[in-house]
Formats: sequence, C-alpha cells, structure tokens
Amino acid sequence: MIDFRSDTVTMPTEGMLAFMHSAPVGDDVFGEDPSINALERITAAKFGMEAGLFCPSGTMTNQLAIKTHTQAGDEVICDELSHIYQYEGGGIAFNSGCSVKLLHGDRGRLTAEQIIAGINPEDVHKPITGLISLENTSNRGGGACYDFETFKAIKKVATHHNLPLHLDGARLFNAIVEKKEAPIEYGNIFNSISICLSKGLGAPVGSVLIGDAAFIKKARRWRKVFGGGMRQAGSLAAAGIYALEHHIERLIEDHKNAKILSEALAKKDFVTSILGVETNIVIATIGGKYTAASFAAALKEKGILAIAMTPTQVRFVFHLNISESDLAKTIDTIHVL
Ligand SMILES: *Cc1c(COP(=O)(O)O)cnc(C)c1O
Repeated sequence: MIDFRSDTVTMPTEGMLAFMHSAPVGDDVFGEDPSINALERITAAKFGMEAGLFCPSGTMTNQLAIKTHTQAGDEVICDELSHIYQYEGGGIAFNSGCSVKLLHGDRGRLTAEQIIAGINPEDVHKPITGLISLENTSNRGGGACYDFETFKAIKKVATHHNLPLHLDGARLFNAIVEKKEAPIEYGNIFNSISICLSKGLGAPVGSVLIGDAAFIKKARRWRKVFGGGMRQAGSLAAAGIYALEHHIERLIEDHKNAKILSEALAKKDFVTSILGVETNIVIATIGGKYTAASFAAALKEKGILAIAMTPTQVRFVFHLNISESDLAKTIDTIHVL
C-alpha cells in the first residue's frame, strides 16, 4: 500500500532505530533521562528559546500550552480550522475551562486586523481574552504557510494587549524549509511553540513544547497532572533527535512531489479544484463521477490510501515513506481512473 493518509504513518528508518537502540535512558519524571534532556535542549536552542518539554503527542503539547497560558473562564482566539479546536476532543473547554473565539481566516491563517477585532473589550459581560493561538502550516488549510510579516504584525497586537502567543507548529519545519525561514525568528515572536516529531520528521512518537524556563516549569507540572510524565522514554526522544538532524532538509522533496501530484490530479475532470499546494499536503475537491469517499475507495483498490476528509475533499499527505516510484505509480493510477 502507498499510504498518503497522513505524514504520521512513517516507519522509523534503520539509522533511526540504531540511534534509538543506543540511546542512554533514565527516569524523566526525576529529570534523569539524558536523551529526553538533550532533545528538549536541542529543540529549544534551535528556536533560541530557554527550555523544552517532551510529550507523547502534539495534542498534549498544545493542551499544556493552553492550560499554562490561561485561567479557567478565559477565551482563546484561534482560526475555525485550527487543530486545537477541530481535533483535540474539546480539550480547550475540558482541560482549561476556556471558551473559544473562532475566527474565519484564509486557509487557517489569521490577520492582525482579525485578531484585534477578536480581542474582547474590558467588560464584565465578556470572557477575558487569554491567549492567541496560531497554526503553521495549517493542516485543514491544506498545508498553507503564514507570511512572516503577518506574524510580526500579530506579535505587535499581542504585545500591545499583553497576550501570550502560542504556535501549533506540528508541521513548522515544512514551513521553515519551504519559506527559507530561520527558526530563531519564531522564537522571537512566540511565547510557546509545539513541534511534532511524529509528522513529516518521521519519528514514531512525540512532540516538544518550547518556551521560556518559567513557562516550561509550569507546563511540566501540568504534564504530570495530565498523565504525560514518562519514565525511561529516552529511546523515543532519541528518535526525535535523529529526526531533527536527518529529516528536516528532505521535507522540500515532499513539497516538490506534492506539487507534481496536484498537477496530475488537476488534469482529471472529476477533480473540480485543488487548494494551491504550499507544502506536503494536497487537498482536492472531487465531483462528477466520484464522491470523495468513492474516489478514495477506487484508489484503495489499486493499493493507494488517501483520506476522504469531507464528503467532497480528498487529502494526500507526503512524507519520507513515499518514494519517487510511489509517486509515479500513483500518477499512473490516477491517469486511468
Ligand atoms: C497532528 C497535529 C497535531 C498533534 O496531533 P497528535 O496526533 O496529538 O500528535 C497538532 N496540530 C496539528 C496542526 C496537527 O496536524
């Protein structure tokens, strides 16, 4: 099977497995796992931030960030497509007791003006705006990236209103590689960033939350409360270190291949539109002889897996287990459907 369902489906490489096998481990709740400590240090340093926190999932790093930045009763500003709202099981309400100000952005991207309008005035009737959360790249937005100038404008708004700014950077390295950005610039803008190791970077498990030392200290306490304090998990962290060293530059190939697939899809009359490919995600709108589900089923019969995201949209995600020949086979298959 050629598996385009998600960039989470990757298998650890031989090199990664060897590195995991040789990793020193210890009890991380006691702060004694050398591999986890190294991963947290390396990730934070890349972004010029003080500290990091290794967690089992990106949902946990996002939810810990929200919990740490807010008080119960606050409101969180985010785009309506954002993962923290769409795909984290209502955790903003459940874990943090916060309401959400949902804004309607462009493919998951908000502007400074929208955020200004979304911040509640000082008024006893209104929840207190407690956090602005952005996502780069935007998953539901089909891998769309922010323009860095927009981050700078949003940072000004956040600073003016004394609001923390969180980034769901599940696929941040896809944006960084594509737009040739410097991670350190992100560290200057955001108060916290969640980075997934288990998406395009190809590690089997884990995410890292980074921020200043006081923030991470509080988040570490909440991680224990959430049940995310792990013990000798250093082999998993080692996979993350290996991924940060070996799997960032290659993301550009996923982006190139995603564009090639989108061009092949665009030739089919049952594909009515495609979100402009910016990184490793292709979202095609299906009409005519197929629904999204029946197109995905037809692909599956030919050994190709893609997700019917909505009744009309099919998503393909590129990652390190999709080879050039997988891409060629997929294009040949689509050609005859
Ligand atoms: C995958 C993803 C996450 C985290 O998901 P987990 O499966 O919990 O690791 C967070 N945000 C975005 C945008 C994602 O795509």
